[in-house]
Amino acid sequence: MELEKSAAAFELAKKFMPGGVNSPVRSYSNVDCNPPFIARAKGSHIFDIDGNDYVDYVGSWGPMILGHAHEKIVDALKEAVERGTSYGAPTELETELAALVQKFYPSMEVMRMVNSGTEATMSALRVARGFTGREKIVKFIGCYHGHSDSLLVNAGSGAATFGEPSSPGVTKGTAQDTIALPYNDISAVEKVFNECGEKIAAVIVEPVAGNMGLVLPEENFLPKLREVTKKFGALLIFDEVMSGFRVKVQDKITPDLTCLGKIIGGGLPCAAYGGRAEIMRNVSPDGKIYQAGTLSGNPLAMTAGIETLKILIDTPNFTENLTAKTSKLIEGIKSVAQVPIQTPQAGSMFCIFFSDKKIRNYDDAAASNQAQFKKFFISMLRQGIYLAPSQFETLFVSAAHNDEDFQKTVDAAKFAFKELV
Ligand SMILES: *Cc1c(COP(=O)(O)O)cnc(C)c1O
Repeated sequence: MELEKSAAAFELAKKFMPGGVNSPVRSYSNVDCNPPFIARAKGSHIFDIDGNDYVDYVGSWGPMILGHAHEKIVDALKEAVERGTSYGAPTELETELAALVQKFYPSMEVMRMVNSGTEATMSALRVARGFTGREKIVKFIGCYHGHSDSLLVNAGSGAATFGEPSSPGVTKGTAQDTIALPYNDISAVEKVFNECGEKIAAVIVEPVAGNMGLVLPEENFLPKLREVTKKFGALLIFDEVMSGFRVKVQDKITPDLTCLGKIIGGGLPCAAYGGRAEIMRNVSPDGKIYQAGTLSGNPLAMTAGIETLKILIDTPNFTENLTAKTSKLIEGIKSVAQVPIQTPQAGSMFCIFFSDKKIRNYDDAAASNQAQFKKFFISMLRQGIYLAPSQFETLFVSAAHNDEDFQKTVDAAKFAFKELV
């Protein structure tokens, strides 16, 4: 496999952009090799500028649940682009997408379209604070909610109730209002609420955590979060930017607010936040909580989102079939593994941890064997399997993946595992 053109493109890109990229993980800095530069993608495959063909399990980090360049979406976009690309004025498309979203998420009685997951979570927090009149929020270590200041916070040393900035540029003042606790640790949550529950505006959580590898919620975690937040009058925010439309979590537990992104835009920039009308009616211009966006509800993004959600709805057993396919792939990978691995799955999301013990939280994920991950990743890339270049990411199966892709993947994994031992 050659990556010469990609290497040259990377050198040039580095002159203009930090790390040569517009989002850090793309630079492959975790895996000691250069990233392939992408020329195009179709279905389950992605192609680089050196002419290499990969089976893609990144799917643009989640949005491409139907595979790349789906014909129906491409055709709808071609028609839409002829009508103009942005008006900054209301369209029927926004209502159409909102109504489709509500079919999946009835708890989103009223919602706002925004342009990125970061914007959705940041706005949901503002609404939670505005609605409750409280300032503190609780998040979980290893959950990623985008890069807004309040959410780039780690657990502080010492008193658990003060967070510390996880990035230079986030002020101590901001960080102090964020409390970061271990995922799946309900007693830590109860302790904090007993200490200062009346100051907490919201708990924000990935109900299926996909940004520390894939970590599943334990049986009581989400119900208990619902219980505690309700008791203390704090809002429960489900950040389903990644898991949304892939994993059903809301049939058992209803959050107050939900954040969506990724799939909702069908590969174009779009996200949304919403929830109970009583809360969302406080957003401007119905209420006083300000939030706006020049390109929000963009007609191209709405079009791609509408077409994507329609296909999900119109295809019988879409989620069940995709989940079964994903299980089949995982079984294949497990059958050739020669080192201990953990393979958590939620719907069409999965990941491979190099560990002999179950992963419950960020510390467990961080303790898995990173050196083995790195070797495995590079071997897979060389064999034409495009995985996320970090142990702390989730992999995605799309409707476009087929048995041939899976066979190629399992064969490559067999060879990659051999190289590890
Ligand atoms: C990707 C992601 C975000 C951030 O979305 P962007 O569109 O990258 O800003 C927020 N929350 C979760 C759970 C995500 O996976």
